Parts: sequence; C-alpha cells; structure tokens
Amino acid sequence: MHELSLSESITDLVVEYARRERVAHVSRVVIDIGVAASVEPEALLFCFPITTAGTVAAGAELVINRIALKVRCEVCQTEYAPPTQVAACPACGSYARKILEGREMRVVAFEGE
Ligand SMILES: [Zn+2]
Repeated sequence: MHELSLSESITDLVVEYARRERVAHVSRVVIDIGVAASVEPEALLFCFPITTAGTVAAGAELVINRIALKVRCEVCQTEYAPPTQVAACPACGSYARKILEGREMRVVAFEGE
C-alpha cells in the first residue's frame, strides 16, 4: 500500500524533528495533501498509528488539510479552481493547463512537549 510507505516517511520526518527540537512526546501532526496528490486520506489515517507505534509520535493525532486544485490555463493564462479534476477553462474552454496547487504533500506542523 502506497499510503503505508508515505506514513513511514511522515513518521521518520516527525521523529527527526522531535529529536532536533528535544520533544519527548508528539501529540499532533498536521499535514497538507492536495486533492490531486493521489493519496487516500482515510488510508493514511489508518496507517499512521501503525507506523508511529513505539516512536515519540505514538498516539499522536494526525490532522489532514485538503488542498484544493488550482490551475492556470496555458492558452489564456486564466487561473481557476476546477470543480472536478477534468474541467475546461471557464474563460476559453481549453483543457491545456498547468497545475499550480493541489499536488502537494507536506508536513506543516507538529505539536508536542
Ligand atoms: Zn483559458
């Protein structure tokens, strides 16, 4: 499962942060996941307690922020938020576009003591 290795990466990052910041126990981890990042949030929530077990982040709450899709039309340069993953430019009807936001996957914050 793709989300399991992703959860392992997040756990490694948080454990590394915690060691550097001298945090003994992490209580909450906040991450951003774009809607186009092909990550299933439910699967990630399921994997997180498994990969954090026995680490400083054991029992931590995982908070997932969903980042909406934002694109720029390559024909008329209009920036828009498509209502679905496949939607034409509202200004010119083109499907040619560049994704500006919505593919990210990053740890944004964690709390602990
Ligand atoms: Zn356009």
